[in-house]
Amino acid sequence: MTTIAFIGLGNMGNPMAANLVKAGHEVHGFDLVPENLTIAREHGVTVMANAVAAVKGAEIVITMLPAGKHVLSVYEDIAPKAEKGALFIDSSTIDVDSARKAHAIAAKHGLLSVDAPVSGGTGGATAGTLTFMAGGSAEAFAKAEPVLKPMAGRIVHCGDGGAGQAAKICNNMILGISMIGVAEAFVLAEKLGLSHQALFDVASTSSGQCWSLTSYCPVPGPVPASPANRDYKPGFAAALMLKDLKLSQEAAQGAGAVTPLGAEAAQLYALFNAQGGGSTDFSGIINFLRGKAS
Ligand code: NAD
Repeated sequence: MTTIAFIGLGNMGNPMAANLVKAGHEVHGFDLVPENLTIAREHGVTVMANAVAAVKGAEIVITMLPAGKHVLSVYEDIAPKAEKGALFIDSSTIDVDSARKAHAIAAKHGLLSVDAPVSGGTGGATAGTLTFMAGGSAEAFAKAEPVLKPMAGRIVHCGDGGAGQAAKICNNMILGISMIGVAEAFVLAEKLGLSHQALFDVASTSSGQCWSLTSYCPVPGPVPASPANRDYKPGFAAALMLKDLKLSQEAAQGAGAVTPLGAEAAQLYALFNAQGGGSTDFSGIINFLRGKAS
């Protein structure tokens, strides 16, 4: 049993913390929202009065927060108060620059740290099947891996500090672009009088095959589990896809990479969000492409 501080008990953090409790760990949790603390308590998390209280006595500190500014502000508060030798794991999706700053704050206080963003959404968080993309030293990763296991289907060590966040935004840039590509093909098929099922049957076993088609099909019918079958209820909200595409574009500009399709995908998701699609699933972009937002 390990004592783990878990800060940020929202849609993702709460089910992740619940899986750590199920695995037999003592989890000390904190969130700013009282309703989230109530849910955490029901899952067996020991709720603490603030983040500093949560890290007291914890060998591992996990954060699952909205964005880079939240992670850096929490790290500035808790790193000076953490136990000697503690390991900090940030699983939030944040910009690479902030991730590297978070590693620097931890290092300044003699702490090990890993950036370990996830893929798999709230379904994967509940089932304990998230993919973790980790960045940090070999020593930090070796210590993080067994702690991540009860929450994970797969854990990949991507490289040094920041490499996990880099992998996450590259993956989600592929996802945003491929979803738009698949959605455009279905809209064209509709105009050409081709049925959804016929396009699916051909493309899913041809060179158009991809995850956005075969696991997350943006039209109802061919893939019963996809959000299209429940009126585009997320799933993975279009607002979060826009956040990740913006992060990929910031990173591309900073690194001097040319990503024209990533830039176009970010623009299309920005328009979809502006027309009210932000809280629907990101596959709902097909309705925007048909000319109606949601
Ligand atoms: P969320 O908004 O539901 O949860 C974030 C939580 O952080 C909130 O409960 C908020 O109250 C809390 N918080 C903010 N500042 C805090 C502070 N100073 N101290 C303590 N708690 C604080 O968001 P989420 O959906 O759980 O996502 C969390 C992170 O995971 C984000 O970076 C998101 O991009 C990423 N992510 C989300 C999904 C998804 O499907 N929801 C999938 C992969 C990655």
